[in-house]
Amino acid sequence: MTRSEELFNRAVKRIPGGVNSPVRAYGAIGEAPRFIDHADGCYIYDADGNRYIDYIDSWGPMILGHNFPEIREAVLKACEKGLSFGCATEVEVEMAEFICEHLPHVEMVRMVNSGTEAVMSAVRAARGFTGKSKIIKFAGCYHGHSDALLVSAGSGVMTSGIPDSAGVPAGCTQDTMTAVYNDLDSVKTLMEQAKDQVAAVIVEPVAANMGVVLPDEGFLQGLRDLCDKNNALLIFDEVITGFRLAFGGAAEYFGVKPDMVTYGKIIGAGMPVGAYGGRKEIMEMVSPSGPVYQAGTLSGNPVAMAAGLTQLKYLYAHPEVYTGLEKKGTLLYEGMKDLAEKAGLICHLNHISSLGSIFFTGEKVCDYTSAKTSDTKAFANYFLSMLKGGIHLAPSQFEAMFLSDAHSEDVIHETLKVFSEVLEKGNL
Ligand code: PLP
Repeated sequence: MTRSEELFNRAVKRIPGGVNSPVRAYGAIGEAPRFIDHADGCYIYDADGNRYIDYIDSWGPMILGHNFPEIREAVLKACEKGLSFGCATEVEVEMAEFICEHLPHVEMVRMVNSGTEAVMSAVRAARGFTGKSKIIKFAGCYHGHSDALLVSAGSGVMTSGIPDSAGVPAGCTQDTMTAVYNDLDSVKTLMEQAKDQVAAVIVEPVAANMGVVLPDEGFLQGLRDLCDKNNALLIFDEVITGFRLAFGGAAEYFGVKPDMVTYGKIIGAGMPVGAYGGRKEIMEMVSPSGPVYQAGTLSGNPVAMAAGLTQLKYLYAHPEVYTGLEKKGTLLYEGMKDLAEKAGLICHLNHISSLGSIFFTGEKVCDYTSAKTSDTKAFANYFLSMLKGGIHLAPSQFEAMFLSDAHSEDVIHETLKVFSEVLEKGNL
């Protein structure tokens, strides 16, 4: 028995499913998850001493690679002053100033502890600001696990939400409407059905939670126009794309300005941080300056701020990180596409900059319905074969691959070699 198996056997007795977040389990794969001991650069090492090239990157935050020296040093330095005070600190002001000075669509920002909290709070602020209740989200977009957003509603347009999880009363999701990604008409229909009741449209500007699904040309601008026409706010959930597609995230990349934006993960460089921000008049609704209540004992934690601010400053000062990620993304994902084509594998590969997903389907994947046509058994074989070849991928079809600045071209070529061997064995 491996050490990972041993740990998993212990874990399942005391932690539901043996993991503290479901996506870590290898449920779809049928094995014990690899328990991680440490990580450095683009490599991650499990409890049995195996080394893998890591394409999870802690689901996004490690854009500079694991254990990045400047961030580690900033954290250690902050720790020397104390771990938490529950009081205001200078580093929080610096963080807010840095974000607002460099992102034109963020005039004020509030720190929280996770992406879930960021989205939950942004939606509350949007409702408080507009005085309206309904929100429109998209099937297949994930916005954390707050009750009102746990609705994906499968395919098709629905006028009221059906919760995806037990324990979410229908009342919590009755104001959540679900539209179809890349289908502006579905949004228009909902806007007409709930005339003058829609507080906000929330979208992953690049969907990364049904696998990577890109917005069609004009989709995000179309949402902007529909929101303006209907006096609704546009919220970009940039928990994945923020500071990743570009320093200014998807808003900068696609040149569409949201009213509000949510961040997570990457803003804490691996520490538990999230944030929401946007136009000043909206953010001023948030307590204690306004009537929308939102709070957090550990929000703006000084150690987390030190880590996050160091990462953001580094990214801002090194725009070549983004050009590098574009180049490496093309090398990796187009390389995989070529190899798959040559091997006659029926698949569809979506990618943008450092993010990518392979779907085992002949269909173009542009929304939740088409994403679900992927053969998940083929994915499980692909995942396990890649893992055996030393490549650590997300153990689910409906997640992204994340490249970091620490993935060198050599490492990408090594990954492509493993993929080509997997294809040669022909068990996909
Ligand atoms: N929004 C998006 C787009 C996400 O991808 C996630 C998590 O993956 C969340 C929100 C929730 O973030 P967290 O897991 O930090 O609560």
